[in-house]
Amino acid sequence: MNDFAVNSKKNEQKKSLYDFTIDDLPLAKNAPKFRRKQLANWLYEKAAQDFNAMTNLGADWRQELSENYIINPFKKIESFPSADDSVRYLFTLEDGLQTEAVYMPYKSRKTVCLSSMVGCPAGCAFCATGALGFGRNLSQAEIVGQIMAIAFAEKIQPKEIRNVVLMGMGEALLNYDNAVSAIRLMINPDALDMSARRITLSTVGLPKQIKKLAKEGLPLVLAISLHAPDDLTRKEIIPTANAHPVSEIIESLYDWQRLINRRMTIEYVMLAGINDAEWQAEALAMVLSKLKTVHVNLIPFNSWGKSSFKSSDKHAIRKFKKVLEQNRMEVSVRFSRGQDAGAACGQLALTQS
Ligand code: SAH
Ligand code: SF4
Repeated sequence: MNDFAVNSKKNEQKKSLYDFTIDDLPLAKNAPKFRRKQLANWLYEKAAQDFNAMTNLGADWRQELSENYIINPFKKIESFPSADDSVRYLFTLEDGLQTEAVYMPYKSRKTVCLSSMVGCPAGCAFCATGALGFGRNLSQAEIVGQIMAIAFAEKIQPKEIRNVVLMGMGEALLNYDNAVSAIRLMINPDALDMSARRITLSTVGLPKQIKKLAKEGLPLVLAISLHAPDDLTRKEIIPTANAHPVSEIIESLYDWQRLINRRMTIEYVMLAGINDAEWQAEALAMVLSKLKTVHVNLIPFNSWGKSSFKSSDKHAIRKFKKVLEQNRMEVSVRFSRGQDAGAACGQLALTQS
């Protein structure tokens, strides 16, 4: 893995080529534009890590590129495999801060869970990343680079990774520009050529940004971390609920569904004695009743270090699910992968083992 990872010190000031759009990739003087596609092919199709490997680019251009740019934006990459085959990746960035991603190879598809930040400023009470506080936003290169680094380390083609979930560290809609430009690179046919339909963006629920995202016209899967149907409960566990009542979030989802005609996911972490009562299931069904094609994902709480929350037990989860189903909602229970490697939802907290 070190072959990929280690950038020498003098590289710290250089920009990663993953930070460019394909149309802006640096060209040699007077070179024709089609050369950019050749460079993009090396970067994204072949996942080249060494300018010397890019043999059809011409020695002078390669020299120029290597003097001015780096490819991968990470100083160090460590991996922590889980017994269920998922692998947690810990990235040390050029400034020494760290972030994480998770690789989940299913039989029929390979999925990566990416981070958009170091830590997170939203501070949700049940989330290990929230407890870290905010480090900084990740750049476009640091977001897309997670996919490239995982492909390299797993010895697979980047294009074998067809499913992306932006559900790692951070709130992508608070790093809006970089998250959206990274997504655009993922779906660019000259870069990773992914389908936007297989990219899920999970958000704590920021109405203004959701409305803005709807106007981008990207048919993503939007996942909303609602976690409570009423403002009182929501404010207890999610600080941003003080600024954004449930009604405003739901209104922004109407906008989303009007412009992006796609099924969306409502995430609901099951916290014993907090949000798992029968009345809350009834209220949730009511709140969601006017949205079309909603899928509710009940997530058993994954415990972590200092957290005092407890997951609802199987019985409570089953009952909650039943009430939703009786109200004709589509519901599933998501058991997170990677728990033993600290890679499950909400466990990402930069531990070294
Ligand atoms: N910031 C975004 C995405 C990252 S969190 C968001 O909040 O949606 C990804 C998902 O994991 C969210 O639904 C989040 O609420 C959930 N989560 C956080 N901590 C958790 C925990 N300890 N157990 C289970 N799910 C958790
Ligand atoms: Fe941030 Fe999401 Fe964790 Fe809340 S749940 S602190 S928004 S990463």
